[in-house]
Amino acid sequence: MLIKNAELEGRRPIDLRCQSGVICEMGDTIKPLPGETVINAGGGALLPGLHDHHIHLHAFAASHSSVVCGPPRVANLKQLAEVLSDVGGSGWIRGIAYHGSVAGDIDRWQLDDLVSDRPLRIQHRSGKLWIVNTAAADILELEKHRELEGVECDDSGRPNGRLFRLDEWLRKHIGSPGPPDVERVSKQLASYGVTGITDATPGNSGEELAIFKTAIEGNRLLQRVLLMGDMDLPLASHSLIERGAYKVLLDEHKLPRVEQLTQQITQAHQQQRPIAIHCVTRTELVFALSTLLEAGHYPGDRIEHASVTPDEVLPLLREARVAVVTQHGFIAERGDQYLREVEPQYQEVLYRGRAFVEAGVPLAGSSDAPYGSADPWFAMRVAVNRKSGSGDYLGRGESLTPEQALALYTSPAGSPGAPARTIEIGQTADLCLLDRSWREARSRLVHRDVLATVKHGEPIYQR
Ligand SMILES: [Zn+2]
Repeated sequence: MLIKNAELEGRRPIDLRCQSGVICEMGDTIKPLPGETVINAGGGALLPGLHDHHIHLHAFAASHSSVVCGPPRVANLKQLAEVLSDVGGSGWIRGIAYHGSVAGDIDRWQLDDLVSDRPLRIQHRSGKLWIVNTAAADILELEKHRELEGVECDDSGRPNGRLFRLDEWLRKHIGSPGPPDVERVSKQLASYGVTGITDATPGNSGEELAIFKTAIEGNRLLQRVLLMGDMDLPLASHSLIERGAYKVLLDEHKLPRVEQLTQQITQAHQQQRPIAIHCVTRTELVFALSTLLEAGHYPGDRIEHASVTPDEVLPLLREARVAVVTQHGFIAERGDQYLREVEPQYQEVLYRGRAFVEAGVPLAGSSDAPYGSADPWFAMRVAVNRKSGSGDYLGRGESLTPEQALALYTSPAGSPGAPARTIEIGQTADLCLLDRSWREARSRLVHRDVLATVKHGEPIYQR
């Protein structure tokens, strides 16, 4: 394919050809080959494709295909009816997060009043109860299974649609749809210019690897993937998937023994894998760093979140040579809550930006979707403006320049925070093309400016 008239690092527009997944030609005027895909950039900026360095793809996809049926979004029966009537498509509707404060202990007949023409199942937010309507009860042949433990019946002995601790049975009888389809969220990410993701789900194992591989081969997953996971995660054997760090979750109330974590780190390093340690408190971060210093360094070692990083911890980060993968979007999404709940001395050191850059700590950005917005441009804007949802500043001195914010998403997947991938002949053709010059785009940082996204030399999104 050929991209014409693209602005590269502020210079006058050039043409660029991609073949077999790499950039193979760059010049003032390149003539299209017969049948070649041509994208005219019209002077728009050409950037390295964006990489989301920490996301949970299957949870993100599931959140899209489920309807939130509880507070705060849904507070009463009327609102429940509204969200259910908004569901498009056909087939099963899957609701989540129901709570008794909405409409009490609802049963199948109440659900029939809301949805009668297609099967509906709603999960209670405790996770132990599903409530189904009659269309669903018919598919599940509930009448035949009224004796099954967990199938609740009314006074006349009819199953009332309330199913306790029957997840496994439900999955089997619905005809296991398998993991949620990632096609829609993958397309959404492509529209933001995202050409690669790091899936940071700690439990990823061989099973998830196979699912990712199938989705990539079926063209339903458009991004290349770096897959973190557990110690048993096998090597990927696919050019678009790479095995990533061994992921460790720390909880400051249940910290492991230092020797235990040191051993895990050493074991990962022996497998030629970096370690990724989830740290959201100061205590967790200090514990992780002292252990990392003990265990030694491996390229690509990383701290996830580093939500609270006081000044005195910065030299330790530097000394341990670890990268920080953070989520500036949380400043906007949760900032008002932080301002109410976080001790004042820590408010200025939440999800820092500039301090890491100035201390020479490699810093990368990510969404943590579905727990944060998947839009990297949103997080870039927040990295620059440092504003909470209601407009209050959080760590105003941590503000990055738009160029530094962009760089959070352009480092190589395996070396978060390292210098950005370059756009040169011979480089992998993972690209994000904007519809305007960088000079214009840098003051907006909005995903709407993405004109096309190219992964491995093929367009995966075009506006
Ligand atoms: Zn996460």
